[in-house]
Amino acid sequence: MTHLATRRHLHASYLSETLRLWADSIPHLHAEGTDPDGRPLDFDRSLICAYAFRHSYAQRHADAGTPLDVLCELMDHKSVCTTQRYYTVSLKRKREAVTKLAAHVVDHHGRPRPCSDTTYELRSVAVPYGGCTEPSNVKAGGNSCPIRFQCAGCGFYRPDPSYLPAIEQHINELRADRESATAMDAADFVITALTAQITAFEQVADRMRRRLAALPAAERAEIEEASTILRKARAGNTHTLLPLTPAPRTTPQP
Ligand code: SF4
Repeated sequence: MTHLATRRHLHASYLSETLRLWADSIPHLHAEGTDPDGRPLDFDRSLICAYAFRHSYAQRHADAGTPLDVLCELMDHKSVCTTQRYYTVSLKRKREAVTKLAAHVVDHHGRPRPCSDTTYELRSVAVPYGGCTEPSNVKAGGNSCPIRFQCAGCGFYRPDPSYLPAIEQHINELRADRESATAMDAADFVITALTAQITAFEQVADRMRRRLAALPAAERAEIEEASTILRKARAGNTHTLLPLTPAPRTTPQP
């Protein structure tokens, strides 16, 4: 115990020296691409440093669509502007991603509902589990769903493959809610409503996954890349959308 209590922390210089020794001891380290003779290029080992790990950690979170405010906390950044740079997506890449995914939009039954880039961007808005084409909600930037974000049962719901992880996560949350409702001996209509939502979202996700699986590997890879770009663009949007029920206004006391 005494030994553990008196053990000193690792100094930054010790960590960098150890990291350098480890990086230099790796026999072959290849960068992306090849030289004119087709041999793999050497990776620049001077780029391996502790800060690079931190940077990669943040970038991977941003690419996976971790919300901006969550990543800001994980990175312990003082300002969200510092975190924002991990979400930078050029307009050109975003446009290409929209073009790619607009062809793979489905409806709330999981049936194909491809649309043009213009429709994707101008006549729909991103809500938590997919695109929404309900005009008043589009006008309100996604903050005015008339039926409290029950997208799986809504004729205006238009998800594309970039929403698959969000849909899968939501299915898990709904299942957990159903378990809780059952344990609480909630009324049948509560369980029935949750089950119906789970079934509807599962159908959307299943059909989307099956359609993707039937595509050639190269096209699937393009869709995955486009999905990552759009998830990142959405996650970097400081305008947070949550399926919350607005609190009723309280009358000010005289
Ligand atoms: S339920 Fe979903 S798709 Fe339907 S109007 Fe509301 S946000 Fe849009």
